[in-house]
Amino acid sequence: MAFSFFGGVHPKENKHYAEERSVQTFPEPDLLVIPMSQHIGAPCKPLVKKNDIVTRGQKIGDNQGLCVPVHASVSGKVKAVEMRPHTNGSTVMSVVIENDHQDTLCPDIKPRTKEEVDALTPAELCDIIREGGVVGMGGAAFPTHVKLSGAIGKADTIIVNAGECEPYITSDDRLCQEMPEIVVSGLLVAMKILGLKEGHIGIEDNKPKAAAALKNAAVGTGVIVDVLPAKYPQGAEKQLIYAVTGREVPSGGLPVAVGCVVINAATCKAIHDAVYLGMPLIERIVTVSGDILLEPKNLMVPIGTSFNELMEACGVSENPYKVLNGGPMMGTAQYDLSVTTIKACNAITFLGHSNNFYVEDSRCLRCGKCIDACPMKLSPVLMYKAMQSGDVDEMKSINIMDCIECGCCAYTCPACVPLVQGFRSAKVLIRNAAAAAKK
Ligand code: SF4
Ligand code: SF4
Repeated sequence: MAFSFFGGVHPKENKHYAEERSVQTFPEPDLLVIPMSQHIGAPCKPLVKKNDIVTRGQKIGDNQGLCVPVHASVSGKVKAVEMRPHTNGSTVMSVVIENDHQDTLCPDIKPRTKEEVDALTPAELCDIIREGGVVGMGGAAFPTHVKLSGAIGKADTIIVNAGECEPYITSDDRLCQEMPEIVVSGLLVAMKILGLKEGHIGIEDNKPKAAAALKNAAVGTGVIVDVLPAKYPQGAEKQLIYAVTGREVPSGGLPVAVGCVVINAATCKAIHDAVYLGMPLIERIVTVSGDILLEPKNLMVPIGTSFNELMEACGVSENPYKVLNGGPMMGTAQYDLSVTTIKACNAITFLGHSNNFYVEDSRCLRCGKCIDACPMKLSPVLMYKAMQSGDVDEMKSINIMDCIECGCCAYTCPACVPLVQGFRSAKVLIRNAAAAAKK
């Protein structure tokens, strides 16, 4: 049974640009810039130096603590280890590889048979997933081995997020249509780690081909495909848990507090590849779409490919007004297209000037529409007021930290108040105040 979460919106889906485009392998670029920071946690320290020769899949960065390694996505020569622009707006240490186009595979990469995988313990599987550099690929980039190992004995339900509710983005849709057995296989590995006989895949009813393919692949496996009514943000973790189980994650809590674990469909493929193929996470499907693209595409892209090259591969009909890492609701605007794809980059959206909704000195009309739209049952209008006042205690008291930055409030606001930007600033203020209080 599917539950309908509170609030949400129905933005124009714009999936038609790319949804019928099969996944194509992007020709490997001559130069790749691989950031050492692609996950939540400690950034990797480079394990290679300038002029080193690297092979495809070789580990080139790692660190202690909350961390997963990064790997070379092509074979070639290290041209530099230096600070480079990152999609998060900062510059981070990166390994720049000159591609030799030889595709020389790292000798450590060895596939495993089904029997070998069946013989592995949950701890061994988690180690393999860590060494494969697997993170949440829906955007959060939290290390998957930590999420799974931390939920052993606590979670009774695992849900694969194949919701993909953001407009324009079709990478998970194509993955589920074209590689459903691999998605199910990765989920079965995660179920084994958690000791579960049953698993769920949540997908919206606007992706009937993907849902049918997954159902077919899931026959006899214990995997249930839950087809949910399309509503944004169905793919948000807490909303998906409610939609599938009816359980509400408490304010400030994690899914495991209600016995749930959520992993993304692309993460399932990365788990499968790491465990069965011995192949670390070095490439992913990226939807390159938008209303000004001449040829939108779903591309299998090596990690470290520049946004510029992807834009050139698809062509644009005008200079973009906005380029987003992600989709128009939650994506982050990019000002330097030399930034490169990372593990959590599922889409790049190129929007034209007709998407300019900026209003100088926007004023709240007190219509309350943002309150009705908020899936977290927050009061965006009051949160914005608290942010403007700079009163950190007030911001905390109205639960700004619970905001998932889904953009429903901003989408529905007739006055175009920049609500989400305000909440992002407010969170920085709250975190800075907490850090200052610790000193
Ligand atoms: S961005 Fe935050 S406040 Fe706005 S609707 Fe989403 S969760 Fe609610
Ligand atoms: S939707 Fe916009 S105008 Fe209406 S109450 Fe919220 S912030 Fe104010």
